[in-house]
Amino acid sequence: MAAANGVGVSLPDLFDLSGRTALVTGASRGIGALAARALDDAGARVILCARDIGRLREAGQTLRNDPIAMRADLSDRQGVTSLLSDLAGYADHVDILINNAGTHAAGEAMELAPDVWDEVQNVNLRSAFLLARGLAPAMARRGWGKIVNMASVLGVVADVDASAYVASKAGLLGLTRALGTEWAGRGITVNALCPGWIDTDMVSDLRSRDSFDRRVLRRTPAGRWGRADDLTGALIFLSSHASDFMVGQTLIIDGGLTASW
Ligand code: NAP
Repeated sequence: MAAANGVGVSLPDLFDLSGRTALVTGASRGIGALAARALDDAGARVILCARDIGRLREAGQTLRNDPIAMRADLSDRQGVTSLLSDLAGYADHVDILINNAGTHAAGEAMELAPDVWDEVQNVNLRSAFLLARGLAPAMARRGWGKIVNMASVLGVVADVDASAYVASKAGLLGLTRALGTEWAGRGITVNALCPGWIDTDMVSDLRSRDSFDRRVLRRTPAGRWGRADDLTGALIFLSSHASDFMVGQTLIIDGGLTASW
């Protein structure tokens, strides 16, 4: 494990996560499963969390550093509380929190049911706050912690039929700045990643529509959909000493979508 403070750390140690423990929410598939593998590759022990325990165990199978799978429904406040209590034996050691679990509800705003709105906010935004709040005190006691919030380009720009999702991700970027500012002096950095369109289950319906697929390819200067592993470098950067002086910021990884007109 590298020193408690990133100053003077050698180049390989900047990204070394040996001896660290990371909690990844939404790790049963897609970006979260890839994040779990990347953190494991960098040396961390990973706690994988989502609702589908079978898929969590499957995702953990190829990891080397004694992974742990924990079931939790993060749409529910009680679900988050239970997860924090299940983590009790490990929580004192969670150095890295990846708030990645997310859900999307397509629908025209005038017709969006309030319960659907609530569910999206609860998974995408409230659970991120509650987990950060639950795990930060131990990080502060150790003087080092990393919180990475998986936002979206739809937290920066909007699209039609996505009001609940857009609001939740914009809220997550605000939360990133707020917690980053509040906790930077205690050695905890809070930053966000904003992926563009990444080919996962979440967007498989959209991708199967020719018109949507063409729109993504036309709007993305890189000329392709992203892959979950396009996020690996940024994720390890934000989870390691390499980002110790980066506070409340957002890295956008979208093949140029938001950089272009
Ligand atoms: P995905 O394949 O649909 O995975 C979503 C993950 O969140 C799954 O592991 C799912 O696990 C978990 N999850 C959903 N609801 C949950 C709940 N109530 N409690 C606990 N876990 C829950 O989506 P993805 O594309 O990998 O997305 C991962 C993150 O990246 C999300 O925050 C998403 O908004 C963000 N993102 C994705 C894209 C994209 O284009 N794919 C772009 C920008 C941002 P279970 O179903 O097993 O619970």
